[in-house]
Amino acid sequence: MAHRRRQFLSFQRKLILSFVVIFALFTTAVVIFEQMRARRAKAGAMVERLETYAAQVALYAPRPIDSLLPLMPPELRITVMDGAGVVEYDNAIDPALLDNHASRPEVEEALETGVGSDVRTSSSTRLPYLYYAQRGGDGTVVRVAMPYDATVRPFLKADNIFLYLVVALFLLGLYFIYYVGRLFGRAVGQAREREKNRRLKREMTGNIAHELRTPVTSIRGFLEILLENKLDAQKEREYLERAYNQTRNLSELIADMGLLSRIESTPDSFRRERVPLLALVRRVAEDLDVEIRTCIPDGLAAMGNENLLYSIFRNLADNAVKYAGRDAQIDVTAVADGDMVRVNFSDNGPGIDDDKHLGRLFERFYRVNEGRTRDKGGSGLGLSIVKNAVQLHGGHIEARNNNGLEFVFTLPAK
Ligand code: ADP
Repeated sequence: MAHRRRQFLSFQRKLILSFVVIFALFTTAVVIFEQMRARRAKAGAMVERLETYAAQVALYAPRPIDSLLPLMPPELRITVMDGAGVVEYDNAIDPALLDNHASRPEVEEALETGVGSDVRTSSSTRLPYLYYAQRGGDGTVVRVAMPYDATVRPFLKADNIFLYLVVALFLLGLYFIYYVGRLFGRAVGQAREREKNRRLKREMTGNIAHELRTPVTSIRGFLEILLENKLDAQKEREYLERAYNQTRNLSELIADMGLLSRIESTPDSFRRERVPLLALVRRVAEDLDVEIRTCIPDGLAAMGNENLLYSIFRNLADNAVKYAGRDAQIDVTAVADGDMVRVNFSDNGPGIDDDKHLGRLFERFYRVNEGRTRDKGGSGLGLSIVKNAVQLHGGHIEARNNNGLEFVFTLPAK
């Protein structure tokens, strides 16, 4: 179950993660695109402003234009040059210090087409500037420039709102994806659970058919032999006995299946009482006619259904005799442990040769060695009943190898 839950969670996480990645890529693309668009728009707006300044300057040029300066933004740089690119006026730097400007991209463009613009880092101030140049009718080129960043910043503020909007949308989308992912993941989880249950049911039906077929086939075989052959009295009795034993296996199987289904479907139908454990184990030993060594305090009792508690010890003892042999040593110890009683039930038989089987012993119809153990009879449901009965009482059971097979389980003391 824990494993399933983990699998389900990782599935949901994968789903959400892929959605998030797609959405994040999309959002980033939108933001970048919008930034680029805004940048272009800003540059366009700035060029328009520079155009106006340049037109005003051109009205004055090549006359001294210092008187015009107070009307212009202080950060505006103005350069006037002749048709050959020789600087005649500059409001920031002495023209004598400036080289020929004909090869500046915006000037080159203006000389060719009439107007030109360029964004680049100014070699004198190290700041990005937007340059705009225009050629007048007489060949004079007026160039104006502004720090690009200074003008862009106010625009960016307005655009932050757009950015916030996108982030909000992103968060909203994230929540939506998470929500849808959970719904979807849950639906998938449920579908998987249903499919697993269907498979288990199919397997169980197959198992039951298989378990019934075995004794029925052999009973039929024995009866056919008896009907079709004239056998001596001794042989006849032998076959009848064998057929009879198989019918006993069959009724044991059917009784076990009935008990299991009652434990599962109506667990409340088992009346509980105080069951002294020492007496219970002694009764099992007597019924089976085996010796069981006990180490159980006299007054120790479990609170449970007597028949089910009997089944637990009876099945474990049956198995010990079956798999460890009649002469095997069987030990049962029980101690009070808080509200519970802890029981150790062990034999000194061969145990389970591979630990990987230990956890599966309690599964229905699970046999460690299919062929060999089936010969010993047994429905294959014994340990499954034991585990279900322990769990019905709120206890827990485990099997381990300890010089034989040992079961450790708990039962309620109150
Ligand atoms: P079965 O009817 O086959 O005994 P159980 O559910 O009682 O079915 O036991 C499941 C399997 O566990 C058995 O087939 C056997 O292989 C193994 N097993 C159970 N008890 C013992 C034991 N005391 N020693 C060794 N193997 C055991």
